[in-house]
Amino acid sequence: SGGGQALVEVRDVVMNFSGLRALDGVSLTVRRGTVTGLVGPNGSGKSTLVNVISGIYTPTAGGVRFKDEEIAGWPAHRVARAGVTRTFQDPRNVPSFSVRENILMGAHRLYAHGAFAASVNSAAARREEGRFLARTAALMEAAGLSAYADDPVGDLPYGIQRLVEVARALASDPELLLLDEPAAGLSDTEAERLMALVRMARDHGVGVMLIDHHMDFLEELVDEVVAFDAGQEIYRGDMAGMRDDPTVIEAYLGK
Ligand code: ADP
Ligand code: MG
Repeated sequence: SGGGQALVEVRDVVMNFSGLRALDGVSLTVRRGTVTGLVGPNGSGKSTLVNVISGIYTPTAGGVRFKDEEIAGWPAHRVARAGVTRTFQDPRNVPSFSVRENILMGAHRLYAHGAFAASVNSAAARREEGRFLARTAALMEAAGLSAYADDPVGDLPYGIQRLVEVARALASDPELLLLDEPAAGLSDTEAERLMALVRMARDHGVGVMLIDHHMDFLEELVDEVVAFDAGQEIYRGDMAGMRDDPTVIEAYLGK
């Protein structure tokens, strides 16, 4: 489902770790302006797929096409610069920096002029900084984070830290956003705010891959859901069909 243009295409990806096959022939497409859910029991290969797409791992076999380029094997920084941003299961903010500073760090990855150009063209640099601050303020507003703007992230509740991580990812203006269990440990209110951020990204044309275990949360957001078990796809389709799918139920109950 989802009429958008294919943004990333994973083809027949195999990922071996000394004797263990974490991904066993996975193919999957995420389109612009859509949300693809990814579910599966612990150890089924979800994070490994995010690591392959984002350049942390080079797949043992298979390919990853992002826009017009074959990116499997590219280093992570190059994949990120090309427009792929991911979050981690454990938030990776700088705890002593404020909420605003953490989100601003994401925006700075957009910096077009470079340090040297900035030093000789301070008016352009100031304009750029103004845009980053405006973008950061808009994201804080959307995520309900404005009240915490000046607080060190490390002092805030865990759910808020997760929202900061997602807002920072969005500040980098990704084309593809990979969210690895962003809703884990969130209150209902925080989950609503996370949904608002994901919808905002999707409505701006971002392709989103969303790993999560909360079916009600996924149901609100996804255009399509893919279920993994033991490194293989066992279901692809809509959420209603997945809830009733005997293979999916068996995979979850069997663990
Ligand atoms: P999920 O995110 O679905 O819980 P993972 O992708 O983290 O699953 O893990 C899939 C399998 O691959 C697990 O058996 C895990 O232990 C293994 N695995 C993941 N990363 C590595 C690694 N770097 N080295 C060895 N084994 C790994
Ligand atoms: Mg995982």
